[in-house]
Amino acid sequence: MKYNIGLSIYLLTAIFQGCDKPQEKKEIMDKARDFHSYAIPSEARVKHLNWDVSVDFDNQTIAGTADWEIEKTPNAQAIHFDTRYLTIKRVTDQAGDDLDHTLAEDQGYMGSDLKISLKENTTRVIIEYATQAVAPALQWLNPTQTLGKNAPFLFTQSQAILARSWIPCQDSPGIRFTYNAQVKVPDGLMAVMSAENPREKMAGGKYVFNMPQPIPSYLMALAVGDFEFGEVGPRTAIYAEKGMLEKALWEFTDMENMLIAAEELYGPYAWDRYDLIVLPPSFPFGGMENPRITFATPTVVAGDRSLTSLVAHELAHSWSGNVVTNSNWNDFWLNEGFTVYFERRIMEALYGADYAEMLAALGFNDLKNQVDELGAESPDTHLQLNLKDRDPDEGMTDIAYEKGYFFLREIEGRVGREKFDQFLRNYFELYAFKPMDTEMFLEYLNKELGIPSTISAPSPNDWVFGPGIPMMEFKPSSERFARVRTQAEQFSLNGEVDETQAENWTTVEWLEFLHLIPDSLNADQINILDSKFELSQSGNSEIFFAWMKKLIRSEHDQCLDRLGKFLTSVGRRKFILPLFEELVAKEKYSEWALETYKIARSNYHSVTYNSVDALFEEKGLAIS
Ligand SMILES: [Zn+2]
Repeated sequence: MKYNIGLSIYLLTAIFQGCDKPQEKKEIMDKARDFHSYAIPSEARVKHLNWDVSVDFDNQTIAGTADWEIEKTPNAQAIHFDTRYLTIKRVTDQAGDDLDHTLAEDQGYMGSDLKISLKENTTRVIIEYATQAVAPALQWLNPTQTLGKNAPFLFTQSQAILARSWIPCQDSPGIRFTYNAQVKVPDGLMAVMSAENPREKMAGGKYVFNMPQPIPSYLMALAVGDFEFGEVGPRTAIYAEKGMLEKALWEFTDMENMLIAAEELYGPYAWDRYDLIVLPPSFPFGGMENPRITFATPTVVAGDRSLTSLVAHELAHSWSGNVVTNSNWNDFWLNEGFTVYFERRIMEALYGADYAEMLAALGFNDLKNQVDELGAESPDTHLQLNLKDRDPDEGMTDIAYEKGYFFLREIEGRVGREKFDQFLRNYFELYAFKPMDTEMFLEYLNKELGIPSTISAPSPNDWVFGPGIPMMEFKPSSERFARVRTQAEQFSLNGEVDETQAENWTTVEWLEFLHLIPDSLNADQINILDSKFELSQSGNSEIFFAWMKKLIRSEHDQCLDRLGKFLTSVGRRKFILPLFEELVAKEKYSEWALETYKIARSNYHSVTYNSVDALFEEKGLAIS
């Protein structure tokens, strides 16, 4: 299915970003208006933000001014901002004169349209405002919810359209701006943003930030807490709480090498530094690719460097997503599919083709599961989605990631790696700091590699606008996984595993083994794996998660103790939601699940609890 999305978001973008070919300008002008934003950038759009705020933990609010430099057409009467749960106190222009404004009624995930009247000579709009405690982007943690237990912690998660709940902004991925910020936090705490960052705590809690590269609002990020800086390499470092810093530095020791490998693949890194902050465990995602500083879950600090593909993933976003950005959330696959492809190429460069193939094979398992879950004919299995009138969060499935990856892999297989790498290098260079959509990509693919949308094997149209998994010529294959399969078959048949093999398995091999053995195991099978390999005690979150799912399906009650601890301490949605899904699917566990959720919920970010709330509601289980 292909659909046209109407009006012109990119008119001004194109002019301002120096798009000089009339043909290209025309094409960009015809592109859609993002229906997840109230902004009308073709009339008036933001260019630069000067953000001056205080962070108040006692009242769980951020208050201050968002001073926006804008550009507008001569006739523009108003500029529209996205807001959600913001208290707007005053709006003035560059001369300090009041500007008329109206704040529309709240429209759920879309929030409220803030319409500000413009005068002919308006060049800046200065919005004095405060956030509310319910702001879905913000997670305020008590000291007890941190590792150190002695200072509070705040972090943001803006993607997809949550930035509007902490900054009045034009919250569309196609609109970029630069920013600087003055942020006051309680004395003794550190603050970092998706910007040039400090390396130590500032006296009086006063921080100054500068972000010289233009970014879309979903990459706005702030973290405040008692954390420290530790260098990995000349351009890479880790921020983490004291008790986590050494572990994280060891775990992510390859960060600088990943950065070098990434540049060798697809060209220079555009953001100067690549740092990473390890957040408290309630962070809802594995990682968030905030420019210059990835926000990461501590659940990838496994103690054996086995889950570091997450860093490769977030680093790869520095090209796919942060430099070439999906123009709206229907084209989310352009951010994620390219990033998974790039991530696996980094992993291959560092750890060999065999390892990367195992990661790809696990990705294929995820893709099959996701398609089964959504239904093979579901439009939500298309790469290009239709999220009109839906929360874009609904589009964040494995389809964008893994179907996107396998589509690119098919193209690579067809044209050869050398040609495909050159193609990607050109793509990242040509479209740097510009929005990209599916149609533009398909056109570029045809122009550069001679792959029209309609041909067969692979047919880009089938991949992008069609359901399920198209026929694939270049499936992953791994000899190590072939040996794991033999073990899994043997175990399924007679409950035996060759210990000398299994003891040497890496995390990915364990994950494949757990994928291949039956969903429901008998007590003997559970005991064999648990007594020999202590899976229930695993400190590796991926293995623990996969194993717990088996135990729930097997109704193995002894798992509830460990599981309860996990559910009440970790907030990563990728783990939390499926575990609750498994639990409520079993009648005997649904009451326990509900009680556990009531305790755990306050420890989750809105991204996680909104999803789990929906699950319980669907099952008719009342949370309050
Ligand atoms: Zn990603």
